Amino acid sequence: MKPGTRDLVMERMQILVRNAIENARKNPTIAERQAALAKRLSTKYRIRMPYELRMNYCKKCKKFIVPGFTSRIRVGRSNVRSIRITCQFCNHTYRKIIKKPPRQSL
Ligand SMILES: [Zn+2]
Repeated sequence: MKPGTRDLVMERMQILVRNAIENARKNPTIAERQAALAKRLSTKYRIRMPYELRMNYCKKCKKFIVPGFTSRIRVGRSNVRSIRITCQFCNHTYRKIIKKPPRQSL
């Protein structure tokens, strides 16, 4: 891999996923294609997607899920801050522990 390729691919993946989320409601077909493309880039270049991108793919059925649309995100209220993501396709729920308390961005 050429130096810089990693950054380039990472950027492309981020753009693709961001666009896919934007398109999900209006144009699910395009969204699906962009999401699949991002995943293919990750596999092809063996670059692991950062968590904020990976959380848009269900761990179980591998579908592209959009927060607030095809997935539900809930913040746990216990001492351990965690978010729960529920996939609306297969109903699989997974948790992510947040070490630092999240800001109001969610
Ligand atoms: Zn699923």
